[in-house]
Amino acid sequence: GPTTATVRRATDAAPLITAADLPPARHFIDGKFLDQSPERVIDVVDPSTENVIAHIPEGTADDIDGAVAAAVAARRQWARLLPKERSETLHAIADGLAEHTELLARLESANTGKPLAVSQDDVAQTVDTFRFMAGAVRATTSMAAGDYAENHLSVILREPLGVIGVVTPWNYPLLMAAWKIAPILAAGNTLVLKPSEQTPLTTLKLAELVADLLPPGVLNVVNGYGPVAGARLAEHPDVNMIALTGSVSSGRAVARAAADTLKRVHLELGGKAPVVIFPDADLAAAVSALRVAGFWNSGQECGAACRVLVHESVAEQFVEQLVGEVRALVVGEPTSGEDVEVGPMVSKAHFDRVTGYLERAKSQGIRVATGGGALDGPGYFVAPTVLVDVPEGAEVAREEIFGPVITVETFSEEDEAVRRANDVPFGLSASVWTENARRCHGIAARLDFGTVWVNSHLVLASEVPWGGFKGSGYGRDLSLYALDDYSRTKHVMHNHER
Ligand code: NAD
Repeated sequence: GPTTATVRRATDAAPLITAADLPPARHFIDGKFLDQSPERVIDVVDPSTENVIAHIPEGTADDIDGAVAAAVAARRQWARLLPKERSETLHAIADGLAEHTELLARLESANTGKPLAVSQDDVAQTVDTFRFMAGAVRATTSMAAGDYAENHLSVILREPLGVIGVVTPWNYPLLMAAWKIAPILAAGNTLVLKPSEQTPLTTLKLAELVADLLPPGVLNVVNGYGPVAGARLAEHPDVNMIALTGSVSSGRAVARAAADTLKRVHLELGGKAPVVIFPDADLAAAVSALRVAGFWNSGQECGAACRVLVHESVAEQFVEQLVGEVRALVVGEPTSGEDVEVGPMVSKAHFDRVTGYLERAKSQGIRVATGGGALDGPGYFVAPTVLVDVPEGAEVAREEIFGPVITVETFSEEDEAVRRANDVPFGLSASVWTENARRCHGIAARLDFGTVWVNSHLVLASEVPWGGFKGSGYGRDLSLYALDDYSRTKHVMHNHER
């Protein structure tokens, strides 16, 4: 029957963070932390202990307006810098963050419950994002030029858009901020960022660490709730583009709010990644990849390998191996050991959402092969779970659970596998497992997802684009495509007839 893991607790008496580690709990506007006493504050919680670790101001529309005004005032000076100069600043930011890897990782783990090693990996990727964009901007500001009409020389320019509004989620607070900030600044824009109200600490720390590296107003951070502070950014007439990483419903709200000013919209929304396993796949490789890609960040990952479609002829063998791996996962507090793999859900509300999915699945008769519910508190821990014999169309197989849960369905024909893999409202990422090279190309072409891995899952790099189709949104993070998204194209045509 289902077994539940136990939560390993930190034995070290030293707390993960002390008051001296915290960033100022303020808005960062025009190069400084605002010295105001806010009318209302939001509690910031450590989800492994349920302790309140900070209070941040609840930003208002006025706070957003002040930050946008600062970003507007700063845009000309920042846009005029040479690519080389902006590149040097981005390298300096990368250096500053890298020097504080340990501190940033501890703050991230305290605010999200991630194992410390996972947070360290997030910081390393954050640094690499800045370094990649610092290099890329020097190589991509080149202009395509030519004679395309008689006696006319065309010059095609890439220009900054101006002021960009950014709204980030709680699952990778620092890394998602970096995925926006780095290309936005590299392309010569200024920005106002609203971090998730649940996880603002590393974004505020980033602002503190880079305050002296950027001219005032180039980067602004305003705390607050989505429907107030985020919504004001999306509708603000002086904001030229709004970029959101978050849920589908927030994406819709942002796109609607942006419509009146026709500002550009960039959306990285949810996912429900199928993992399609053919009978000729290397099952052991698939299972060990799933141990990581299904449970990385406790499954609170938009690309998580959460929905297996396995060929019926190998299903039994596969499930047995998968359950063995999942039972071996180490669940615990961030500092409970270097081998800890799974932490808590980020908040009580999200814990209730994830356990709600599990309760409904059980009441629908879906079989729990391992896990299946909450673990003992304190903290919002959920047992790593495998649900099997999941019928086509079940809620847990279609909706984003965003927790440590893998569902397993079986298929018999290749066409059926492709059809069912695509039969979700999302289109972010998918993986195919087969040793047949001919088959993998054919399947990758038919899968309606922005990223398709073949015999792999969740591997990313700064050079490659990340973003979705369908309900997963539009626009690309990382890579040269992100730089392009945060720029506009101008054509200047010279008549040179004498
Ligand atoms: P969320 O949508 O609840 O919140 C994301 C951000 O949007 C927060 O800062 C929130 O305050 C803000 N927000 C909420 N309503 C808003 C509104 N009406 N206007 C403007 N801003 C608003 O999402 P979350 O729960 O923080 O994050 C989890 C979601 O993010 C999941 O669906 C996940 O798949 C998605 N995600 C996607 C990617 C990707 O790259 N595609 C990466 C990480 C997370």
